[in-house]
Amino acid sequence: MKTEYYLCKKCLHVISNPVCSECFLGHVNEWLSGRRISSEKKTEVIDELRRSIKISDEGISDVDCVICHENTVDFCTYCLVLRTKWILKKLNDKEMIDDFDDVFNYEIWTH
Ligand SMILES: [Zn+2]
Ligand SMILES: [Zn+2]
Repeated sequence: MKTEYYLCKKCLHVISNPVCSECFLGHVNEWLSGRRISSEKKTEVIDELRRSIKISDEGISDVDCVICHENTVDFCTYCLVLRTKWILKKLNDKEMIDDFDDVFNYEIWTH
């Protein structure tokens, strides 16, 4: 068991539940599939989110994702959730944001 800890590259909080952006995007994608949203809008949200949480080339971290154990994790889930919410707010659908809060309010998504 390693004792090192890793800091989020955006907010500098300790990453306690490392989830990579691909796994996170997968979750958002799954959630969007169950929503009343056109596939155009859905692609838009996913594309924008992907750009927003794209891992920079410098300083790739070496902490593994707890879900896929393949990708490394640079950002805490708090930052991922926050960014998703910014993008969802543009759709101006309060019901959708409330639902997002419910679904992504698991312990795994918090610090
Ligand atoms: Zn963060
Ligand atoms: Zn992963």
